[in-house]
Amino acid sequence: MGSVLDGKAVAAKVRAEVARDVGVFRAAHGRVPGLDVVLVGADPASEVYVRHKEKACDEVGMRGRVHRLPATTTQAELLALLEGLNADASVDGVLVQLPLPRGLDEKAILDAVHPSKDVDGFHPINAGLLSSGRPALVPCTPSGCMRLLAEAGVDPAGKRAVVVGRSNIVGKPMAQLLLAANATVTIAHSRTADLPAVCREADILVVAIGRARMVRGDWVREGAVVIDVGMNRGDDGKLCGDVAYDEALPRASFITPVPGGVGPMTIACLLENTLKAARARG
Ligand code: NDP
Repeated sequence: MGSVLDGKAVAAKVRAEVARDVGVFRAAHGRVPGLDVVLVGADPASEVYVRHKEKACDEVGMRGRVHRLPATTTQAELLALLEGLNADASVDGVLVQLPLPRGLDEKAILDAVHPSKDVDGFHPINAGLLSSGRPALVPCTPSGCMRLLAEAGVDPAGKRAVVVGRSNIVGKPMAQLLLAANATVTIAHSRTADLPAVCREADILVVAIGRARMVRGDWVREGAVVIDVGMNRGDDGKLCGDVAYDEALPRASFITPVPGGVGPMTIACLLENTLKAARARG
């Protein structure tokens, strides 16, 4: 029977570390790190995420500020706001909450965040630095997954890792981080032939698909570590992952639950990134 990787507990530990280090930063620099979140439109889920981010900043002693803009905001207005935040010395991190309302060019807007303030790690410069093995602001969810592995005492070096999903937000950076940690990495996706067989090769299986309970128990190698990034509503209306948790638990050595696994790590790593960006700017 696998051990449950408790993302809530690890996230609390990360937040406590950040709170401590924010105190050290304030003493050294006479200011606190600042995160500015831009929310365009009134998507209810985004509103909840943004409030959580603001609250999380408060709790670790950072300055969190949300810019709420109407859905009618034009591309030029949004770019002008980002330009102002890029130039503002009190702003260390800038995050544009996704999805953006239709009519706004998401790619151009994410590219307009200065790479040194890109705490989501989505800018192509940061993606390029990560794939070149150089220090960068790394996307928060894959960072959180790596921390969960570390907390479980799992060293990826020499292990077979399979990442299912190749998005720029999760799958690709996750694969890069595992590669940097010396795993032998396979990236699987919707065109992968015989996905169950590919998954069965994994010592470390990271799943970021967005389909409820798609990965079945018999896709999991005996003793594998399973990291489930998925967040879906199951047929019963409850939150569930991409992995059939009950089936995978008896086979895995470690497994993340949904909720309470990867999810809580994402905001904790956002706080870490904001502190990192602040330190880099001094
Ligand atoms: P995307 O939709 O951007 O990417 C999904 C990936 O899964 C794609 O690469 C796609 O392949 C692949 N895929 C889709 N269907 C299949 C299939 N049948 N077989 C194999 N691969 C498939 O999603 P994200 O990466 O943004 O997110 C993935 C999941 O993680 C979602 O459930 C999301 O809610 C969750 N998430 C959770 C976060 C957290 O904090 N816990 C943060 C971010 C995301 P292809 O490229 O070929 O289309």
